[in-house]
Amino acid sequence: MTKNAYYADYIYYDNMIHKNSYLLVIDNIIKGISSNIEELSDYSIHQFSNSAIFPGLINTHNHLGMGIMRGFADDLPLMTWLNDYIWPTERKLLSPEFVYYSTLLSLAESIMSGVTCVNDMYFFAHNAKDAIEKAGIRGYVGFGVLDNFDKALKSADKFEESDLVSLSICPHALYTVPFDIMKKCVNYASKRNILLHTHLAETKDEENIIKSKYNKRPVELMNETGAFDCPSVFAHCVHINNTDMKIMKKKNVNVSHCIESNLKLASGFSPVKKMLDANINISIGTDGVCSNNDLSMIGEMRTVSLFHKAFNNDATALNAETVLKMATKNAAKALNRNDIGELSEGKKADFFVISFNSIHLTPVYNPISHLIYTAKDSDITDVYVNGSPIMQNKKLVHIDVEEIKYYAREKAKFLIQG
Ligand SMILES: [Zn+2]
Repeated sequence: MTKNAYYADYIYYDNMIHKNSYLLVIDNIIKGISSNIEELSDYSIHQFSNSAIFPGLINTHNHLGMGIMRGFADDLPLMTWLNDYIWPTERKLLSPEFVYYSTLLSLAESIMSGVTCVNDMYFFAHNAKDAIEKAGIRGYVGFGVLDNFDKALKSADKFEESDLVSLSICPHALYTVPFDIMKKCVNYASKRNILLHTHLAETKDEENIIKSKYNKRPVELMNETGAFDCPSVFAHCVHINNTDMKIMKKKNVNVSHCIESNLKLASGFSPVKKMLDANINISIGTDGVCSNNDLSMIGEMRTVSLFHKAFNNDATALNAETVLKMATKNAAKALNRNDIGELSEGKKADFFVISFNSIHLTPVYNPISHLIYTAKDSDITDVYVNGSPIMQNKKLVHIDVEEIKYYAREKAKFLIQG
């Protein structure tokens, strides 16, 4: 049995800030919090001075395997971007090795942003799994389904979940995957009791396509697949009206809100405040690097809060604590988990440490305000998953950053040559 106590000036424990305390961890599980060092004689003590400890951030929608394609096709409408750039390039470049290194590149960036759990959606899932295991992070490996249902499922059948890595099935969206295949994916997810992860109501174009093909709205059609009745996460949910919201509330739909991707692709404005007010569970995703273009959850949380204040003409909307909750507790709920997403007794020890030593974080009045409105990824010093460090003093423990950068630069040459 390993007993560790982590000191910080501020610890966000049981949904409130505790000052000058120790977070107690036995093996991989949080045991409690204490401010009395006398009680901790049998614990190994770790000091993080002028710092705060927060529950690890959970990114509920991304495409980690796109890492190496960042910045190669920008400033395009979604369908042109997908049809003329992303999909042809993927057909040409994707390989097990490409996905492995791309995923590691994306994970390195994610960990440096305080992320302890990722919900991924891509191809070559077994290689993504290898990368997630190598990084030591917690993750959902998503088997991407377009027209490759049988092949994807055959591959998913062989997938073995582990303590850190879970499986999900990821039909791309209703406008790219035929209705019967979407239904088959839902049945597969229900039968195996795994997560279903897909895109929903992302653009006006999607709404028009679904309307002309099925004479229904995307949320209505998704409801008919049965997807809302199994553990599931829906990325985007931008074009949502009051009727959609009623269905979503009734069915306890989990939304992954991807504000920066929606802004960059001009997809529209998701009514997040309205959905939160209706008690719909909203978490946060960055989406892939090609449509964001970074994986910073620190940056994403800030954009979420600022955007929805302006959008609702209400400075009190989506306050710092609400946004932190979206990126932690709500995200865990979206993944159908009650063992992660917050620091409290019995939960998995997934957390990050942020230093308040930088000029822009001096002095501290409210650590949550600093985290959401001021902090940068570079302020994060340490990240722990399942009680083990995966970043220590700003150095990734398991990922060789130079090796990944070398591979990414080599592959980029092929991408430029076309
Ligand atoms: Zn996406």
